[in-house]
Amino acid sequence: MTEVPNWQDSKLGTMKRAALWLVAEIGVGNIFTKAQLRDAFPDVSQIDRRMRDLRDHGWSIHTSREDLSLSTSEQRFVGQGSPVWEPGKATKSSPTISAAQRREVLMRDDYLCRSCGIGAGEHFAGGQEAAQLEIARRQIKRADGTSSVELVTECNRCRVGGRQVIADVGALTARIRQLPAFDRKILAGWMADGHRNFSEVEKLWAAYRGLPAETRAQLSGAIGS
Ligand SMILES: [Zn+2]
Repeated sequence: MTEVPNWQDSKLGTMKRAALWLVAEIGVGNIFTKAQLRDAFPDVSQIDRRMRDLRDHGWSIHTSREDLSLSTSEQRFVGQGSPVWEPGKATKSSPTISAAQRREVLMRDDYLCRSCGIGAGEHFAGGQEAAQLEIARRQIKRADGTSSVELVTECNRCRVGGRQVIADVGALTARIRQLPAFDRKILAGWMADGHRNFSEVEKLWAAYRGLPAETRAQLSGAIGS
């Protein structure tokens, strides 16, 4: 039986320490804030990113994107994944993505987040924050029942949920006012209903767009023209 190390052990890698911190200080089911995370790891500049890396090891951490009851500065530790602090565990399930692989995936994905379509350095709607593109692993279940893990480009926001989302209502209102009357009427209708009904073809497009390149090619090949 392996002893669980202390999260404050600075000899451990940051991702391992973040995992141990979640287990020791937060506990499954509980909420933590960005401020708590920063306080725990004051010397680590990429702590958000290291926390996200845990998702590749089966850890479930929800943001306001997956859990609407959370604010944008909160996350919930939903479930523990692989004990990454044990020897070999951090690498076995998830080999490091090489720089060459990263370049290839970005190129195949047209340098766009496949989930929301934003490009690197573009600003998120209604905010000052520029998008960073990252490579995510996506579990693919094929029609023949086999499954695989493929790489896909995702922006920092789609991968983890909003970090510092600032809604600029004034700018939003101005943009709405600039819409052609017809579009504004459609938007007003969605606002009144409180939701927008996507057509089946739009839903299918969104599902297709988010797939990794290889699977996109297979699917579009299978459909033909
Ligand atoms: Zn995105």
